[in-house]
Amino acid sequence: MLFENGGNGLSAEAFFDSKGGLTYHDFILLPGHINFGVDEVDLETRLTRSLKLKRPTVSSPMDTVTESKMAIYMALCGGIGIIHYNNTIEEQTRHVRLVKRFENGFITDPVVLSPENTIADIDRIKKTYGFSGIPITEDGKLGSKLIGIVTNRDICFETNRQRKVKEVMTKEVVMAPLGITLQDGNRILKECKKGKLPIVDKEGRLVSLMSRTDLLKNEDFPYSSKNATKQLLVGAALSTKEEDRERLEELVKAGVDVIVIDSSQGDSVFQINMIKYIKKKYPHIEVIGGNVVTTQQCQNLIDAGVDALRIGMGSGSICITQETLAVGRPQGSAVYHCAKFARNYGNIPVIADGGVSNLGHITKALALGASNVMLGALLAGTAEAPGEYFYEGGVRLKKYRGMASMEALKEGGAKRYFSEGDKIKVAQGVSGAVMDRGSVVDLMEYFMQSLKHALQDLGCRTIQDLHEALYNGTLRFETRSPSAQVEGGVHGLYSYKEPHLGLFKSTVTPREG
Ligand code: GDP
Ligand code: 5GP
Repeated sequence: MLFENGGNGLSAEAFFDSKGGLTYHDFILLPGHINFGVDEVDLETRLTRSLKLKRPTVSSPMDTVTESKMAIYMALCGGIGIIHYNNTIEEQTRHVRLVKRFENGFITDPVVLSPENTIADIDRIKKTYGFSGIPITEDGKLGSKLIGIVTNRDICFETNRQRKVKEVMTKEVVMAPLGITLQDGNRILKECKKGKLPIVDKEGRLVSLMSRTDLLKNEDFPYSSKNATKQLLVGAALSTKEEDRERLEELVKAGVDVIVIDSSQGDSVFQINMIKYIKKKYPHIEVIGGNVVTTQQCQNLIDAGVDALRIGMGSGSICITQETLAVGRPQGSAVYHCAKFARNYGNIPVIADGGVSNLGHITKALALGASNVMLGALLAGTAEAPGEYFYEGGVRLKKYRGMASMEALKEGGAKRYFSEGDKIKVAQGVSGAVMDRGSVVDLMEYFMQSLKHALQDLGCRTIQDLHEALYNGTLRFETRSPSAQVEGGVHGLYSYKEPHLGLFKSTVTPREG
């Protein structure tokens, strides 16, 4: 055991009990002893009482962050996505179904045409989507009998673009039966040297499509988050309102694995009633309650039966709650106190939600006892987030907005912040833009490798080891003064290159005070 203040920083208990409200920026973790390689670090964690993830990352239920595409790739990368609910019940459940139906390497919603379409229709598809390998079915829809395929080779020399597809399509189609594995499908594609492999059911109806171009892209995702029947895990957000019980029923029918009750101040009788209702009616569904920041709030939700807690109030990058309402808590203290409490009362995992603005904050959140981090801003610029890229001042950007921003409110959102009867709505978030961050698959790999290095530097092989070090006092903390924060960032250079797509911009500037 180390001596307090003996040149080795403070234990978490001594540190957080003496310093008031702290953010991730306000402290640094002191290094531990390394006696293992970085590849030996294992990032497995618990999401809820009974669900485990291989990587401790959750994408936030925001309409500029998580729909099916983000949820699919978060789950493939070992985390999970929570589908937002600023949409109709049909839209939200459609996203859940798309994640549950996803099979890596298979295009499950291919563009299909009928024999009566023209080559000009294929030209239009090529212009819009960039591909021209189109399966042809009897009625031009997925699920109807496959009768041919048109590829670029069938149409490239054709001068009359008004000719019907049925006159030019290839009728001898190499196809594969439903249920074929990705490996077998890839083998057939290689052997037959075709560009597309339609997958059909016993009656010859088109179910999905494989593409030769994807052979190399069909990566194995060894960490993917799946249930016993090998479907990807997915979560969905829900409000505390009684009318959302109908939404809940449809989400359960669609196969959702975990429900996040989305409320900015989670300690309410409405949320407690909803938790009890879900746990009674659908005991197999895991429920994440929140948001909470004090141990008393945690106690009430744990008593109601939650399977995990979401921690954070006012720390999100788009959030103005603390400045508008003067209620909330600095995120470092909120995570530390709530995680410690939840561990002792049922060993409930906690998710650190909001305020993770650089990679180091992921490590810090876990080091404060969180089992997972929930990300908004860091993911909103990826290709998998909803919305199109646009340019401003030559920089490629995507929109990112708070769910309690006026803009989200106008589009039917912000259910977690307002009551039906509110005549005047007070915004608790802003809308803005974030930089293009490429594919979430590459980003996650980068984050997770950096997290492994961090755990190695702390001398911890697993997140469980990290939590043990936190609670037995071997993990050591020290204050970061404003000048220490400047020193810890890039400084004194005329110019420099970002190591990874702007992840470090503006995060090294200490806040005033
Ligand atoms: P094509 O030969 O002109 O169809 O185009 P490529 O095979 O070069 O590229 C097609 C890419 O688009 C692959 O990565 C496919 O996975 C992807 N893709 C996504 N949806 C579809 C679809 O509905 N049809 C086809 N043909 N490709 C799709
Ligand atoms: P970020 O990762 O961008 O720092 O924070 C994302 C988190 O901010 C979300 O998961 C959610 O908890 C919170 N959040 C989202 N929209 C709003 C909003 O409009 N106001 C507030 N106060 N918090 C928000």
